[in-house]
Amino acid sequence: MDIALIGIGKIAVDQHVPAIAASSDWELAATVSRAGTVDGVDAYTDFDVLLAERPEIRVISLCLPPVPRFEYASKALKAGRHVMLEKPPGATLSECHALEAMAKAKGVSLYATWHSREADKVAAAKDWLSDKTLKSFRVTWKEDVRRWHPGQDWIFEAGGLGVFDPGINALSIVTKILPDAIHLTASTLLFPQNRQAPIAAELKFFHPGGADVSAVFDFRQEGEQTWAIEAVCEEGTMLLTHGGAQMFVDGVAQGATETGLHGEYPRLYANMAALVRAGGIDMDLSPMRHVADAFLLGRRETVVPFEF
Ligand code: NAP
Repeated sequence: MDIALIGIGKIAVDQHVPAIAASSDWELAATVSRAGTVDGVDAYTDFDVLLAERPEIRVISLCLPPVPRFEYASKALKAGRHVMLEKPPGATLSECHALEAMAKAKGVSLYATWHSREADKVAAAKDWLSDKTLKSFRVTWKEDVRRWHPGQDWIFEAGGLGVFDPGINALSIVTKILPDAIHLTASTLLFPQNRQAPIAAELKFFHPGGADVSAVFDFRQEGEQTWAIEAVCEEGTMLLTHGGAQMFVDGVAQGATETGLHGEYPRLYANMAALVRAGGIDMDLSPMRHVADAFLLGRRETVVPFEF
């Protein structure tokens, strides 16, 4: 299937372009970006022109930051195209519900991707937890924003999510692997004095079995980077590290050890191909609901100004 990639920036170049190139399902037929291009691929700067001139491109993959995404997604859906959304699927929950309604009305596919759910050991962690009695569950997602999002000022603007940009990846894993639904009960958000989005956050959740469920997200982590989830159960302790790429039970590594985003984007594109063939919609907003709740309930603290 021909596909067009919109927003040729960091994640498009690092992950989307290689995943599409490696897949037998997809042909990268065009890009739309004001500055970015991909060698050998037709480059547009205006999305309306692409939609009008290239009716044979039935699938649009959006790699823009969250705030402009709704405008592009709604245009694509109105034009009868199938749409794949980078995470988070929009800037607000209402936008995402509106997109889902449009996709249903048009009879096209819509996929809210959560790349971290495709990390190597997430499925194994879900299986392991499925019959365990949870006592405590702790998410620690600490990374250096200067290293992973160099110069991306949009991340600290309203709607950019701040530390929830990576934090929502953790929540996408949590909502996939926990057998019971949890909901947020308290949050503390640390806002740099000169920014509109938090640089760190601490969250607490209600768990129906009474387990102690919490998360800490921090964008100020220099040195070793931590993307880990520890589940202490009556039957043993499961630890997911490296963003879900490695898993340990009572300290023993489970399966081969991977690092980075290994396999995540190829699996997203395989999922999208299956969704388009089946005519389906996959718009699970549960990770984003927790983020919205964290902003709704958040106690705000001001911290020192942040500059890249
Ligand atoms: P980015 O490089 O800052 O932005 C991607 C591209 O979007 C830019 O190069 C820009 O292309 C276009 N763009 C930016 N602002 C725009 C606007 N207001 N209107 C229209 N186009 C705009 O960001 P990124 O790191 O690739 O992240 C994009 C999305 O991917 C985010 O939602 C992020 O959460 C997700 N993601 C990022 C990473 C990562 O490691 N960075 C990992 C996984 C997922 P032009 O200037 O050429 O138009």
